[in-house]
Amino acid sequence: MKDLQIKPLNSKTYGSRKLKNPAKTAWDLMSKFVRLKNADWRGNVKCFTCSAIKNWKEMQAGHYIHRDSLNFDEIGVQPQCEQCNKWKHGNSGRFAYEIIHHYGTEELERLESLRHKERKFSTKELYEKIAYLKAKIKELL
Ligand SMILES: [Zn+2]
Repeated sequence: MKDLQIKPLNSKTYGSRKLKNPAKTAWDLMSKFVRLKNADWRGNVKCFTCSAIKNWKEMQAGHYIHRDSLNFDEIGVQPQCEQCNKWKHGNSGRFAYEIIHHYGTEELERLESLRHKERKFSTKELYEKIAYLKAKIKELL
């Protein structure tokens, strides 16, 4: 794996300009990363829970457990079509099945153990997530 070039927090990118809502910026990048990471060479992504295939730009990123504290979990957040994410409220039964199928029962148990845990990210942590995700996305584009 390539070494990630992560800029320090006080670099030009973030030091001179404060983001209005770092939590939202970080989530938007996470959503983009999750969709791009799973896209094929044409940019198509399979919905994690129903196998519908769409361009990554038309897909969404869905949570297995909808908690801010799990926004950056690379197993708990997967590409989903609007049908599953929005209208089927995450299609969580199928989501659980697919987690077991792809990652094993331990991962499902890990996520379940975090279901009721509160965790707020500090601004510094969010900026770190942003830098990390930007670097990851750059690798994929
Ligand atoms: Zn779907």
